Amino acid sequence: TPELARAESLIRTIPDYPEPGVLFRDITPLLADAEALRATIDAMIEPFAGQFDVVAGIEARGFLLAGAVAMAAGVGLVPIRKAGRLPRPAASVSYALEYGTATIEAHDDIADGTRVLLVDDVLATGGTIQAAHALVPALGGVVVATSVLMELVALGGRAIVPDVHALFAA
Ligand code: IMP
Repeated sequence: TPELARAESLIRTIPDYPEPGVLFRDITPLLADAEALRATIDAMIEPFAGQFDVVAGIEARGFLLAGAVAMAAGVGLVPIRKAGRLPRPAASVSYALEYGTATIEAHDDIADGTRVLLVDDVLATGGTIQAAHALVPALGGVVVATSVLMELVALGGRAIVPDVHALFAA
């Protein structure tokens, strides 16, 4: 649609951030635009309408989308946070980064069998989403789908998390 094409054009590419040689995709111009934000949120939900009971958003930029997705879909929101930020984490999963490891955690505020839509901004190597796929079952939830705003194809994340729905690709 023209709205989505415009939304995609609002993603800004910033060379050499956060380090030399990296092309950072900055979604903040898209977020700042009412029509682009609306079209994006609707399109991230549309293939999965009626199939999920809660949205799980991944810190930090995933939160910016997940709250809007939850309101638009009429469901609740579970934050998946980086280690040490939640007072009573019920589950945690560690995963490898290019240098070192990272850990994500969540509270268990969902009933067993709750159908979860995972949401993040960008799929890069896929490590974060793969870890979230392991975390949700530890809370008793079932990941029914994963929806991201953008996929960075060259980083190959789709090889480890094949079923991610990506609205835009670069
Ligand atoms: P992955 O685990 O390598 O797939 O990295 C995904 C995480 O890194 C996501 O949570 C993104 O927020 C972040 N990320 C990686 N590359 C970019 C980018 O170019 N723009 C914005 N976020 C990015």
